[in-house]
Amino acid sequence: MSVAVEMDAVVEELRSVQKFLLTTHENPDGDALGSLLGMHELLKQLGKDSVMFLAAEEFPLPWEYRRMPLEEVQNEPPADLEERTVVFLDCGNIDRMPVDFLQRDGIHIVNVDHHHDNTRFGTVNLVDSGASCTAEIVWELAKELGAEITPVIGDPLYVGLVTDTGKFMYTNTSSRSHRMAAELIDAGIDAHGIYRRLYEDLPYGRLQLLARALNAVQRFDGGVVTATSLTRGDFAETGAVESDSEGIVDHLRSVEGTKVAVLVRELLSDDRHGIRKVSMRSTDGTVDVSLIARGLGGGGHRQAAGASSDLPLDELFNTIRKGIFEQL
Ligand code: AMP
Ligand code: MN
Ligand code: MN
Repeated sequence: MSVAVEMDAVVEELRSVQKFLLTTHENPDGDALGSLLGMHELLKQLGKDSVMFLAAEEFPLPWEYRRMPLEEVQNEPPADLEERTVVFLDCGNIDRMPVDFLQRDGIHIVNVDHHHDNTRFGTVNLVDSGASCTAEIVWELAKELGAEITPVIGDPLYVGLVTDTGKFMYTNTSSRSHRMAAELIDAGIDAHGIYRRLYEDLPYGRLQLLARALNAVQRFDGGVVTATSLTRGDFAETGAVESDSEGIVDHLRSVEGTKVAVLVRELLSDDRHGIRKVSMRSTDGTVDVSLIARGLGGGGHRQAAGASSDLPLDELFNTIRKGIFEQL
């Protein structure tokens, strides 16, 4: 089915259904939260009954998202769950939302996403891998539904747009992304305020964590791979939290000759001792990092992908380097 046909089906669904439950992937990023909140405000404007759900474990959110107006998010399934259509936003596969009540059979799911490897787990699917972010798809849905794009809808959508495009740097940034930005700014969103809340006035520990990551940079294979790693000690000694590592991998991609930037960090929760999170970014698109991530049990986009692994650090670096080498 073409994206346009899928779009029509989802528009019809959003028009005809009255009660919704909205959710997104675990460890939500800016696009996850922005699409969630933007869709919620859109449905409210249309007079719908919308509930946002995120598991209690997701809180506190990363610093940069704590100033988003997410007070209406609920951490428990609503009593009338059976009557609600569940809308998944920015979630490539259902296992990225490991909450039992959402994985039950018989749930009516609308799956709105932009991951090219989306498993199409919904009853109705709208997967547009040409969209820079899920927020871009929500923006189009809003227009199709004839909604007025007010700042309460536009602000969160802009968060999704700015974060998933790497401030309009990544190759997923299209003229459509820029048109969306322009239309949102014309609609009165606070673009500079959003930028400040996302990227400034953050804890000093985050900068100290970045300093440690830069100190530990390794260059492999003649500079094709620029990689670094962070230990639990790095987090403890800087007072940083897991989400403070967000964005570090982008510093590595700047080095001359780099085709893939890699950050490996030890996970901090007690039950994930010995597990490492891998983040990979492909600079010029020669290497499809989602392929390597899938080999490690994760996934993502061609140019930005991730996975969690229990391999020791050396072995992990070797596996990634091999995966890169095979594609060159
Ligand atoms: P990250 O490196 O965590 O910023 O993730 C980059 C991209 O990879 C995101 O867009 C995610 O969709 C995807 N991703 C990260 N971790 C996983 C995972 N464990 N499983 C599937 N996809 C992932
Ligand atoms: Mn996301
Ligand atoms: Mn996204």
